Amino acid sequence: MKRRQILAAAGVGLAATALAGCNKEADCSKEVAAGSAAKPQEGGGGETFHWKMVTSWPKNFPGVGVGAENFAKLVNEMSKGRLTVKVYAAGELVPALEVFDAVSRGTAEMGHGAPYYWKGKVPAAQFFCALPFGPNAQEMNAWLHKGGGLQLWEEVYKPFGVLPMACGATGVQTAGWFNKEINSVDDFKGLKMRTPGLGGEVLTKMGGTVVNMPAGEIFTALQTGAIDATEWIGPYNDQALGLHKAAKYYYTPGWQEPNVTFELDVNIKAWEMLPADLQAIVRAAARDINGDMLDDYNARNMEAMEQLKKEGVEVRRLPDDVLAKLKGISAEVVDATAAADPAATKVWAQQKAYLERLYKYAEENEKDIYNIRG
Ligand code: CA
Repeated sequence: MKRRQILAAAGVGLAATALAGCNKEADCSKEVAAGSAAKPQEGGGGETFHWKMVTSWPKNFPGVGVGAENFAKLVNEMSKGRLTVKVYAAGELVPALEVFDAVSRGTAEMGHGAPYYWKGKVPAAQFFCALPFGPNAQEMNAWLHKGGGLQLWEEVYKPFGVLPMACGATGVQTAGWFNKEINSVDDFKGLKMRTPGLGGEVLTKMGGTVVNMPAGEIFTALQTGAIDATEWIGPYNDQALGLHKAAKYYYTPGWQEPNVTFELDVNIKAWEMLPADLQAIVRAAARDINGDMLDDYNARNMEAMEQLKKEGVEVRRLPDDVLAKLKGISAEVVDATAAADPAATKVWAQQKAYLERLYKYAEENEKDIYNIRG
């Protein structure tokens, strides 16, 4: 039997089988198209779409990178190959921090990254990503999906021709890896640290020097002393980067990022070409991965922290007076960042009011049970 006949006989899951069985991209397109033509009534039409997704992550990178790859697999499966998404690691098609631009200009139909990576171009993006001493993952998700956040996000990205969706969350991060002890607020003076977004701005106000770099460059920078400290995500990802082999102290808590939300970017012109059922599949897959990645982080961070401690990593808590100072400066930085950009001003006015209500509710109920439970 020729491959095409085998596929036609296979029935359900036809296109997914075709994808799994082919090696070259051109072959895949041909076989998927043939599969769709054989069963035009399945899935609402024969038209197929083959999209590229650029990402900010190294290949097979645990947590966020694998999450992006899982998103692509899920779309392929749910659409039975009518929409295939080929994932590109950082640097394969475009550099890690140019994902948003690539999707905006249509180099790729999709992208996966962290909103605050494009703060130079879109300052308001930071508010959909992470705020120092800000919302945890469930609060960010409540705001985005039920509190008006996503509509604001779409409005902010629209002039760039990009449609955003939340597609992954880290939960509470750690304060990071340090080769210098932090015993007082003065220890931040002259500290060279990799930390992006608003947390980085806070560090600058503390007298530190902020260096922004993608995942692939952090280990070497820390090991060679080009930076004194770095935060990345949490035990799971930090262990994968080998940061425990390049720094002495692992500090908690992750004041700079009580959560980071990752984004799926879709080129709006490409999006408008998709039939409604494929658009629904993309939205459903993004929602699924958004939750699944958080589950993954919660489980794996716990395991990795246990392992790191076994290997002798010294976990330290930032001193209370340092955290109090960081909190005070954070509030100033967030307000000043919002005030400096009209879109950010609008987003923060709505978000701040909403988060205050969420925090009040957490204070009355959720926080209490944690304190009692221990
Ligand atoms: Ca981080």
